[in-house]
Amino acid sequence: MRMPMIAGNWKMNTTVSEAVELVHKMRPGLDEIDGVDKVICPPFISLAAVYGLIKGSSIKLGAQNMYFEGSGAFTGEISPLMLAELCQFVIIGHSERRQYFGETGEIINKKARVAIEVGLKPILCIGERLDDYEAGRAEKVVTEQLESALAGVDDLSGLVIAYEPVWAIGTGRAATGEGANEIIGLIRRNMAKLYTQETAQGLRILYGGSVTGVNSAEFIKQPEIDGALVGGASLDADQFLSITRQTAEIKG
Ligand code: PEP
Repeated sequence: MRMPMIAGNWKMNTTVSEAVELVHKMRPGLDEIDGVDKVICPPFISLAAVYGLIKGSSIKLGAQNMYFEGSGAFTGEISPLMLAELCQFVIIGHSERRQYFGETGEIINKKARVAIEVGLKPILCIGERLDDYEAGRAEKVVTEQLESALAGVDDLSGLVIAYEPVWAIGTGRAATGEGANEIIGLIRRNMAKLYTQETAQGLRILYGGSVTGVNSAEFIKQPEIDGALVGGASLDADQFLSITRQTAEIKG
């Protein structure tokens, strides 16, 4: 019922020419895979070039961040309207934005609202830090993050949630499939309380955190997990293709 999705977050990696090269490596294989939403999120500076390269294919484009104002005197920022011409998705609230750039629940909420307003589908990232995980506060933290990010958001059109435990991002220490499935089930139940059962059942929730071609099946085979947000391994065409192919096989 829910279309599985694999999204690649390239983070602050690849120059424009490297991004072009990576797309050339991925495009033919990715385009052949049906039944999975395939999304790549290169750095801002490469979005226009990548847009041109994937046009006419089944690959979709996402941005890694955006500002919440439409235009104006905000030197150095990228607006939702600029992205909406090129992208279908935008990552909002990634833990690296929260940790290194001071993004609060309030800022993330503004970004989520404006993304939806301009027709971008937010990939909203939530997840607990290691200290919260060890203290058994994962459920509390993700519930609070969810509630603050979506405060006052009535229309969820296209929203995707990525559960990304911070301790699993870029560390090589992935969660277990069962552990991630449990928290994602809780997120879905919370969404049913905040919205409706139907909305929650139709909502895609991804797992993210050290997903590779080797461990992806463990996550994808879980009933509550609709795909993955992949960081490091999305920079390797073979691994990204392998994760996407496995997803098509498991969920197909
Ligand atoms: C991410 O950046 O969202 C991510 C999950 O990174 P990694 O796969 O490298 O842990």
